[in-house]
Amino acid sequence: MKIAVAKGDGIGPEIMDAVLSIFDAAKVPLEYEFVDMGKWVFDKGFNNGMTPEAKATIEKLGILFKGPMETPKGKGVKSINVTARKTWNTYANKRTFQTLYGVDTVFSKAGIPIDITIVRENIEDTYGGVEHLLTHDVALSRRFITRPGSLQVIRYAFEMAKKKQARRITCGHKANIMKLTDGLFLECFYEVAKEYPELKADDVIVDDLCMKLVTRPDNFDVVVLTNLQGDIVSDLCAGLVGGLGFAPSANIGDHICIFEAVHGTAPDIAGKNIANPTALLLSGFALLQHVGLLDTASMIENALLYTLESGVHTGDFGSKETPSLNTTAFAQAIISNF
Ligand code: NAD
Repeated sequence: MKIAVAKGDGIGPEIMDAVLSIFDAAKVPLEYEFVDMGKWVFDKGFNNGMTPEAKATIEKLGILFKGPMETPKGKGVKSINVTARKTWNTYANKRTFQTLYGVDTVFSKAGIPIDITIVRENIEDTYGGVEHLLTHDVALSRRFITRPGSLQVIRYAFEMAKKKQARRITCGHKANIMKLTDGLFLECFYEVAKEYPELKADDVIVDDLCMKLVTRPDNFDVVVLTNLQGDIVSDLCAGLVGGLGFAPSANIGDHICIFEAVHGTAPDIAGKNIANPTALLLSGFALLQHVGLLDTASMIENALLYTLESGVHTGDFGSKETPSLNTTAFAQAIISNF
């Protein structure tokens, strides 16, 4: 089986090379077709950040394993990540946050286990980028929430919660203020909830949700949110389990799925071979599970868990008393634990 791979920008090539070296050592039975996609492709004059050949390959193969891609702040190029999600209608962004032994956090030290899945709506909301400058001093952003779009992602979240045997599924929202847009999303949530009487479904206003997540994260299981709120709350959840280096994600569509880390290109550490490849590796497990390579996925997962538990770490986590490994050496340490 063949998948498309885009290494991306910033730390992307470093962490992708590390993850693929682990896949190769584990003899993962996948072939890779490397595609040209990223800010560097945009800079060559391709408007959506990918060549027509890359687009055709991804559409033919159906699976893209992707490194992070840069989007300048303020003016300039439209997000290549958002364009990709919209182009292929990957309507659900599943992000998992779990306690990993060896990755010390205030919660792991207190013996509070975390296993939260955020399902973020991935296409609508303010991410349409429909913005107007009304006058020099007034800018307007339009927010789109639709019933079909909301029902689709919420139904995905309920199905996933059922498979996960979740205790609880929560809708995060701001329907007290944005009564029509978030109100519609919340209405759809309770409409779908009726189809799943076995799941405890409830809702929490997003600011309260943030407070509750940082005080008792173990009370949450699956949380579904609109696009922008989901993006923000998932970085908060990454912080609960040790940082962005540990947060994987999958963008789920009916025809194309994109597997990538939650984090971005980390320009502050790019090119130094010190980034943590774990989030991309965990995204790779999700990819392997998605294509049915369950045994290979668990073999690599066990090696990763053993490596973390033994105290081996990159510079962004772990004991300050033990020296940190660079990206390549960290990948080699995982390989040595197969
Ligand atoms: P970022 O996630 O790149 O970095 C935030 C902080 O986390 C930085 O201090 C960085 O060093 C650290 N960090 C991130 N990943 C790490 C890793 N694997 N190991 C160790 N430390 C890590 O966020 P940002 O700085 O806000 O964004 C930089 C660029 O990435 C922007 O252009 C943004 O648009 C883009 N971005 C892309 C994606 C994507 O491709 N899906 C996601 C988020 C941001």
